[in-house]
Amino acid sequence: MSVKYTVNYDPATGRDTGKTILNSSSDVGAAYSAAFNAQKIWGSFPFSEREKALVRMRDYIVENTDQISTVISCSTGKTRIDALAAEVLPAALAADYYAKNGRRILKEKRIRGGSILLANKISYIKRVPIGVAGIISPWNYPFSIPVHEIFMAVTAGNGVILKVASQCLETGKEIEKMIALAGLPSGLVSLINLPGEEAGKAFISSGIDKLFFTGSVAAGKKLLQMASQRADRFLPVSLELGGNDAMIVCSDANIKRAVNTALWAGFSNAGQSCGGVERIFVEDEVYDKFTEILKAEADKLRIGKDKDFSVDIGSITTAKQLKKIKAVVEDAVSKGASASVLGKLMPGTEDGLFHRLVIIENSPDNASGLREEIFGPVIFISRVKSADEAVEKANDSQLGLTASVWTGSSRKAEKIAGKLQAGAVTINDHLTSHGMAETPWGGFKNSGIGRTHGEPGLLEMTQPQVVVYDLLSFMRKNIWHYPYDRRVFESLKGALYALYSKKILRKLNGAWKVIKIFLSSF
Ligand code: NAP
Repeated sequence: MSVKYTVNYDPATGRDTGKTILNSSSDVGAAYSAAFNAQKIWGSFPFSEREKALVRMRDYIVENTDQISTVISCSTGKTRIDALAAEVLPAALAADYYAKNGRRILKEKRIRGGSILLANKISYIKRVPIGVAGIISPWNYPFSIPVHEIFMAVTAGNGVILKVASQCLETGKEIEKMIALAGLPSGLVSLINLPGEEAGKAFISSGIDKLFFTGSVAAGKKLLQMASQRADRFLPVSLELGGNDAMIVCSDANIKRAVNTALWAGFSNAGQSCGGVERIFVEDEVYDKFTEILKAEADKLRIGKDKDFSVDIGSITTAKQLKKIKAVVEDAVSKGASASVLGKLMPGTEDGLFHRLVIIENSPDNASGLREEIFGPVIFISRVKSADEAVEKANDSQLGLTASVWTGSSRKAEKIAGKLQAGAVTINDHLTSHGMAETPWGGFKNSGIGRTHGEPGLLEMTQPQVVVYDLLSFMRKNIWHYPYDRRVFESLKGALYALYSKKILRKLNGAWKVIKIFLSSF
């Protein structure tokens, strides 16, 4: 059979960046079997071995920062500074975080007794590896998203089969190099190159124990449906999906900081961030000032191919995404909104997938970008009378990934944050929490199911197992055991009265009945 390849291109130049062998569905089965066998070894290793592997992977990233940043840049069209700030650096921080905190998070935890009646029961929760994790990741953060998932998976003692986005296979090769030097058992983590739909089917039927999917809502829904129909047993699914993030700017906000953050969180990675700023709701008193500075600063940004660190914004990553972004702008304008097209397109952008920065004002509520994910360098800005109106508009979307509140008052910020339907709310900042390994990431509503990163993310890579000991195992029986008779009924009722009755005589009588049956159970 002839070998087939997938060819990757740099979206900023259109140049060929490399080719990768296309796998088949049977390769997924083989990768699963290898990961299954390797996991039996890895899962039995002490935590110190996992810690060593994480430190090796962290050190590999540190030693190869330039190379990894360049490859990410050529895979996605983003600048090397975007690649370093939001991918390489957070990946190293994440490896370090799990190396230092994994043991504590995964440690057996004693469960405190719920009632004196069952004081003889000693219980604890153990964290058992899930087995083999299937990880499918998107093209917008092709390094940091999959490696963070791998770090959590191996920290918890699992094997992994990974599919990175077809656009970013060259970045996938950088991940493979890191894995090869981590000292993991052979086959524990492997990469598969298959187109999305085919990969989804092959992963689900391969026998994986849990699927971790990061991508669009549409693909997430399909996978959830397929996972529930797997023939042998349910497949648990964790979904990290799209966002339509809102930023609420109150009249007492630090306007300069709010503008700088809106620019970075809205336009870095050419706006293709799940948790990027897409909608800004600004209180009337400061709307004009905020918008004027935002537009002036946006217009200074340089858009182009990163050659010598002299551009701020890179290209869009795929032609499909470029088309979607244009459609969002056209939809808003056709409905009466005004669009300011900003930023300087630098020389040499002719062959790339570039899009200028767009700030949309006076948009009617039915513009698609106000409710659905934009995923491009386009920000909708709306004037609101109050923070309450801003919250109402921010929540008027089926997506709820993250949001931010901008005010000088922490009390006010917390009050507003409490009303927002989003998995993460940042006060006077936006997007950065994705790079903080310790803060869980995940959304409300259609933005996903489950959490990644931090303690909850690591625990998603495990199954909780409760172990319960009985200190009175020398007793002949428990009081509720057979044979049943009136005495058993009265004694159990007595236990309830002894615990909770407000009548003292009934309480004492109940306690006496429990003691009597208890003594007769030896
Ligand atoms: P996508 O089309 O859903 O693709 C994401 C990944 O899934 C790719 O590897 C893709 O493979 C694969 N895929 C596509 N269809 C599939 C299917 N039916 N079954 C299994 N796998 C499938 O999304 P995208 O456009 O690449 O990524 C952008 C989306 O990801 C945005 O919505 C963004 O918000 C979301 N995202 C969310 C987070 C988060 O943490 N919440 C983070 C980053 C991105 P191919 O490349 O081969 O098509």
